[in-house]
Amino acid sequence: MALDETTTPDEHPAVALAALRDDARRELPRTAALRHALHRVPERGLDLPLTQGLVLDALADLDLEVSTGRALSSVTAVLRGARPGPAVLLRGDMDALPVTEESGEPFTSQHPGVMHACGHDLHVAGLVGAARLLAARREQIAGSVVLMFQPGEEGEHGARLMLEEGVLDAAGTPVVAAYGVHVMASTLPLGVVASRPGTFMAASDTVRVTVQGRGGHGSKPYLAADPVPVAAEMVLALQTMVTRQFDVFDPVVLTVGRVEAGTKDNIIPDVAHLEATVRTFSAATHAAVPERVARLCEHVAAAHGMRATVEYERGYPVTANDADEVARARRVTHDVLGADAWQDAPAPVPGAEDFSYVLQQVPGAFVFVGATPPGEDFRTAPYNHSPRARFDDEALVAGSAVLAALALDRLAEGS
Ligand SMILES: [Zn+2]
Repeated sequence: MALDETTTPDEHPAVALAALRDDARRELPRTAALRHALHRVPERGLDLPLTQGLVLDALADLDLEVSTGRALSSVTAVLRGARPGPAVLLRGDMDALPVTEESGEPFTSQHPGVMHACGHDLHVAGLVGAARLLAARREQIAGSVVLMFQPGEEGEHGARLMLEEGVLDAAGTPVVAAYGVHVMASTLPLGVVASRPGTFMAASDTVRVTVQGRGGHGSKPYLAADPVPVAAEMVLALQTMVTRQFDVFDPVVLTVGRVEAGTKDNIIPDVAHLEATVRTFSAATHAAVPERVARLCEHVAAAHGMRATVEYERGYPVTANDADEVARARRVTHDVLGADAWQDAPAPVPGAEDFSYVLQQVPGAFVFVGATPPGEDFRTAPYNHSPRARFDDEALVAGSAVLAALALDRLAEGS
């Protein structure tokens, strides 16, 4: 990065931001040690006492206003700048997955069947790292930074619970922007930051269908009402529906991942069950899908003289980035890490994320950070959620420096 050595940090924000990278690198041994400690004791869901304890210990020397959640073991910490101003929010999710680790890392999980396979250990450690960078710059800060350590991202709506418990009011002044990071064990080269304006990640819903037939002997299906071929017809009709009824540029991804019926080859069961995940990329399509799915399943069943009950469970909404905040993320990434470190994500990602709830309330940006280990090909390395997923510690430098830079840059703008 070319720096103008004749200017002081105050005159040249890029110089001040570039120092964040160097400071984050200097802090890396401590940040990585925290990450390893978290990785050894992964916990699932909304109640993460060991993880919460490690976060509280790591923040203890930083002069923050710390509170913990009631319905979940969250940690909210407010860092006050030297002068008053608005608040920004930085978020790190804390929970792990029901995966038996096969990564071969020396700091592998000590909890059987549980693993930080989505890299949330790096999110926690990176957010603590960002807090250290910001605490060292308190004199430059006009306003507050709310640090949101969140359990229950993996399907438990932890972000929504923290919103309900008032995380946006933690600083006593309105949160004007929110930022979050997700590390990637593959897909991106190490240390590369990527995002896009507008829809960045999908909404994710679950559909459960029960086809009610009438069981009987497999040799005499005409005396029964066989729900199995009806369920099979639904699986195919749902695929036809998503391509015939929805705009190809605002698509629906529907996967029937579970089909269950019967006990034996010659017994027609009473019922058949289907379970599908449904991904959508706009609020309008997200709103339209449930009624279409129900109509199709109910009418396919009716066509065969049977009944279908359709249970549609809303998951996380679309993760929608603010265009100006993505532009800010691009700019600060250039300043902190160099121009090569940023990639415009070409398309939304069909995964889902509950930081979406925060971005429904305040403008902000969610970005990916490449954590593919050196020597691995980011195109083929084991993906997030794999038992073999490995996330390189080096991603902590980019993650913590970019989060701190986003907070500093936004607060410098005022309310
Ligand atoms: Zn994740």
